[in-house]
Amino acid sequence: MQIFEVLESNVRSYSRSFPAIFSRARGSIMLTEGGRSVIDFLSGAGALNYGHNNHQIRAAITEYLASDAVVHGLDMATPAKLEFMETFSSVILRERKLQYRFQFTGPTGANAIEAALKLSRKVTGRQNIISFTQGYHGMSLGAIAVSGNRFYRTASSASLPGATFMPYDGYLGPAVDTADYLRKVLMDESSGIDHPAAILVEAVQGEGGINVAGKKWLQSIQAIARDVGALFIVDDIQMGCGRTGDFFSFEFAGVSPDIIVLSKSLSGYGLPLSMLLIKEGLDAWRPGEHTGTFRGNNLALVSATAAINLYWRSRTFSQGVQRMGEFVRRRLEAIASEFGDSFAVRGRGMALGFDCLTAETAEVTARKAFEKGLIVERCGPVDQVIKFLPALTIDAEILNQGLEIFQRSLAEALKQE
Ligand SMILES: *Cc1c(COP(=O)(O)O)cnc(C)c1O
Repeated sequence: MQIFEVLESNVRSYSRSFPAIFSRARGSIMLTEGGRSVIDFLSGAGALNYGHNNHQIRAAITEYLASDAVVHGLDMATPAKLEFMETFSSVILRERKLQYRFQFTGPTGANAIEAALKLSRKVTGRQNIISFTQGYHGMSLGAIAVSGNRFYRTASSASLPGATFMPYDGYLGPAVDTADYLRKVLMDESSGIDHPAAILVEAVQGEGGINVAGKKWLQSIQAIARDVGALFIVDDIQMGCGRTGDFFSFEFAGVSPDIIVLSKSLSGYGLPLSMLLIKEGLDAWRPGEHTGTFRGNNLALVSATAAINLYWRSRTFSQGVQRMGEFVRRRLEAIASEFGDSFAVRGRGMALGFDCLTAETAEVTARKAFEKGLIVERCGPVDQVIKFLPALTIDAEILNQGLEIFQRSLAEALKQE
């Protein structure tokens, strides 16, 4: 690892939490150069919902590469792009009675967020964006401006204008409906809060600590956006593509966002691919107004199409994710009560968080877990939450092994305190 310390910038972070050189990976197992086999409950921060090197998806891209089909074509029309849009429209959108246009942005989630913010400002002629406490939307300046984390905001070394933060669901405890407060300040002509171009929300906050928005709250946020003439944007970058059990994280609430932002697991293979789904009528872009060299990379579109064909043509996969999510949740709740009931378990589907209450407990637990062969990452305002994002395709046995390692690691961390 020492050579990385010399060659690579101080900014590197995951390589510090998981000090090993990873050479191979398959499904939910990563192999290190030292010959260790490690269970992966981080899944590329949600970019590997179908596991590492999923061989069924890999078959589609190796065939594509071998055929000399166009890999990079800027945003030119290709059969790969057409097939992706047609497949996504029929398998994902039409099934859910949704209708959207596709905008392929630069390959990062942050670039897609920038595009969503620009478009909503362009459509409404307004500047302000309402975003929520502990929200996370990426590392470019526009995305940091709508993200809560003080560490990232400070590290940007820039002024970050254009956003107003409102309390997320549950922020003020279970007794307070924070949507009421949002409605009140937006309806009050003298609240000091500018009418927004958009309200930007995650249905489950991934980086923010696996905070879960309720059905009624999301419905209220959508209604408030409509009433105040703002676009309702769901950032589904981490929680979309099946993570919460449904393809989209907001489906359970029956809402239909004006813009949906997808990235991370969209390509199905860990290849970079990001896009906006834009409601018909809101596509106010003029040609070329949001451009970029790597928009809709064809290799990523091919793997994305394969993933949709493999997992989303029936309800079986989604039902399995929901069942497995319930299993993990019950298991984590049992662990929480075994060690005293002050710990909290939160989440939906296969996005779960174990709130250790202190940063130290979470830090020691995650470190011990890695020593024992499990990758788990921390999240939340002070990194006090252990985040569970296993691949949605994980074997029951490996899932169990990982949960056992977590349990033993937590026990050791608590004994040490
Ligand atoms: C990861 C993430 C982003 C940023 O995506 P990048 O590809 O890292 O730029 C934005 N929003 C959410 C919810 C994310 O989890």
